[in-house]
Amino acid sequence: MTSSRDRSTIPLFLSQRPEYLAYRYRGAEGSLTLPAYKKESAGCTIIYYGEIFCRFPGCKRGRKGFPSTSALRSHVTNQHNMITGPQNSGSITEKMKEEAKAWYCGLVATHDTDMEGEGNEDKDRSDP
Ligand SMILES: [Zn+2]
Repeated sequence: MTSSRDRSTIPLFLSQRPEYLAYRYRGAEGSLTLPAYKKESAGCTIIYYGEIFCRFPGCKRGRKGFPSTSALRSHVTNQHNMITGPQNSGSITEKMKEEAKAWYCGLVATHDTDMEGEGNEDKDRSDP
């Protein structure tokens, strides 16, 4: 009896995005190639808002997603001994939102076209 009401744990700005829904769907399906974790200069592993799949290479939770990002963070911390970035779920900035959205866009787009071997998720927003 697992009621999948997990969407409530996902920030609203993501739960409505088609690329994010595609991420969840394709991730569970196993048709999504997730990039490996990368670390910030401070040694923290970046986990974006809304992430539920573990990106550690070979991890069995790569497809079996977690109900929430915080559960994923705990898993990464405990199972892979990585330090994840600060979690301030209460105060998410516009920049964080943009970064997360861009990341999911990149994931889906990369999958749609062809894998070129590297996932470049650095997108600069230039305001007019
Ligand atoms: Zn894992």
